[in-house]
Amino acid sequence: MTSSTESVPLIDLPAGEQIPQLGFGVFQVPPADTAGIVARAFAAGYRHIDTAAAYGNEAGVGQAVEASGLDREEVFITTKCWNDDHGYEDATKALKASLDRLEMAHVDLYLIHWPVPAHDKYVETWKALIDAQAEGLVRTIGVSNFNQPHLERLIAETGVTPAVNQVEMHPRFQQTGLRREHADLGILSEAWSPLAQGKVLDDPAIARIAEAHEKNAGQVVIRWHLQVGNVVIPKSVTPERIDQNFDVFDFHLSDSEMTEIDELDEGERIGPDPDTFIRP
Ligand code: NDP
Repeated sequence: MTSSTESVPLIDLPAGEQIPQLGFGVFQVPPADTAGIVARAFAAGYRHIDTAAAYGNEAGVGQAVEASGLDREEVFITTKCWNDDHGYEDATKALKASLDRLEMAHVDLYLIHWPVPAHDKYVETWKALIDAQAEGLVRTIGVSNFNQPHLERLIAETGVTPAVNQVEMHPRFQQTGLRREHADLGILSEAWSPLAQGKVLDDPAIARIAEAHEKNAGQVVIRWHLQVGNVVIPKSVTPERIDQNFDVFDFHLSDSEMTEIDELDEGERIGPDPDTFIRP
């Protein structure tokens, strides 16, 4: 794919595609508003949208792509297989249903949303994704919320390494150990709730750094993710924030500023624990 702006780094994926390092998440964007909000994100410059069957707004994402006039190859679309759709047959059907709602012939990235160890079907689900990739329904396959043992089991039982693991990551929960494991296995780290849903934005250290760069706290946190090497997908329904969260390519955090943010890690999740989570 090509990037419409020179600013967003493109990261190579094993299957040959490239993922824009900064994308736009649509969790909790109301379905009726999604097409308009995603159109606004495209206008700001985003070319990578992160949705999921569970968000109920895939149709709006598809409508925004269609209305944008952008080439399908210019946009990178991720969606996810929900916990009720684990197992080979159900996951295959779930992907086709997502493609129908998106009105697309393929998605760029398809993720298993959660491992749901209690159901013990994530290996079968992964086999469905491997076959869907071979069929061309999805360019790249990956997982979300997988801990080290889940990743190792997938690889041991199928020989296929997920390209991406999308997990909760932000300055208060940096996942240093899991990121190291990703690097060892050749898995790209993607950060969900990268702003901790706003909960890190009042931190005094981040405020100080923001002031020094004449940026806001959200921009500093997004910049930190980019410099750490994470793919990052902030969400906003507020037009000014959609723009601001994309305006992060005209400044650079120094090593000491990066260290200051690294030191904010408390190892505390704001979201569910992947070992036990089944549904909200
Ligand atoms: P984020 O960390 O992106 O935070 C979003 C919240 O922060 C919203 O309340 C938004 O408000 C606010 N916000 C956004 N930008 C700013 C800013 N510049 N200044 C102040 N406040 C701001 O949380 P999400 O949980 O939405 O995560 C992002 C994406 O990650 C999701 O949309 C989804 O795509 C993905 N995700 C994946 C999960 C998974 O299990 N795989 C789980 C959770 C998320 P407002 O919208 O009102 O502007």
